[in-house]
Amino acid sequence: MFQHLRRLTHTLTVAALCLGATSYAQAQPGLEIYWVDVEGGAATLVITPSREVILMDTGWPRDDARDAERIRNAMAHAAVDEIDYLLFSHFHTDHVGGLGALDARVPIRTIIDHGDSVERDTERGRPLWEEYLRLAGDRRRSIVPGDKLPFSGLEFTFVGAHRELIDSPERRLPNPRCAGISSPEPDLGENGHSLGYMISLGAFQFLNLGDMTPDREHALACPENRLGVVDLWQVAHHGGYGAIRPELAGALEPTVAVVNNGPRKGGTPDSLAVIQQTAEVGDVWQSHRAMMDDAAHNTDEPLTANLTEDAECRGHWLKATVAPDGRSWTMTNGRTGYSRNYLSK
Ligand SMILES: [Zn+2]
Ligand SMILES: [Zn+2]
Repeated sequence: MFQHLRRLTHTLTVAALCLGATSYAQAQPGLEIYWVDVEGGAATLVITPSREVILMDTGWPRDDARDAERIRNAMAHAAVDEIDYLLFSHFHTDHVGGLGALDARVPIRTIIDHGDSVERDTERGRPLWEEYLRLAGDRRRSIVPGDKLPFSGLEFTFVGAHRELIDSPERRLPNPRCAGISSPEPDLGENGHSLGYMISLGAFQFLNLGDMTPDREHALACPENRLGVVDLWQVAHHGGYGAIRPELAGALEPTVAVVNNGPRKGGTPDSLAVIQQTAEVGDVWQSHRAMMDDAAHNTDEPLTANLTEDAECRGHWLKATVAPDGRSWTMTNGRTGYSRNYLSK
């Protein structure tokens, strides 16, 4: 319902933009966001209006450096060649594993995390943590919720890190969806400590919560919604089992939800059902067709960047392009060039 109303008004806006196409093309480029396909890890590339580059997460460790090459391809498409801020949502191999390969290919200035790995003493977590410390060296900084990255014309705010969450009274909204709902069990591992951020450009808002867990999502949504409404929402934890809480999905009222999933990682039937059945969620775009789900659970093919198992996958991206004034934005499928226009709220 919501998205239909917004899309109708979009058609009018797009017509108006086309009339002014020359001046639009000459204007400063707006915000760009690429969801790079790293087959179920995560790598979200952001280019600010003043062309600073932020990447959150680097995909998997692989001998062929597949994920670093895919990130570099997206950067080449955006015509940028350095990363100003490399963020790590948390210290799991699908997020931090690609650091070495990327660091060997692309200059990286500052590396930001949620604090020390809480899995640094586990068999799986220790080598990841030690390798991270070695590679990051003196470029490493840790942030707390409420911290901002210093960009002009754009607000970049960390909303969660190390299980702490932002509390900004000006964004709080009542959330009637909380009635009768209790918090899921806390996740005290790295996912539960994941870093998350919000970007605001004028009226436009983008939210990325990394692999934040259901208990953190519940705490952001209840008893009051701490985040306000957003235009574009990268669902947490690749949209894996139990990853999406309806009390948060409904409260955010996202015009678009992006699922950064792989063919068999994330994008599970239960999570896709939550976003499909939450009336306030508009279009769903997916990095991948989820191979274990039926067609009814997957989104439409034009809104899906990759359709194959990862062995045949070309690693197409999804992209959001936001107008410099933040009032309108476009989603594009890198596989086909198909795009849809949206108005910010
Ligand atoms: Zn993950
Ligand atoms: Zn994880």
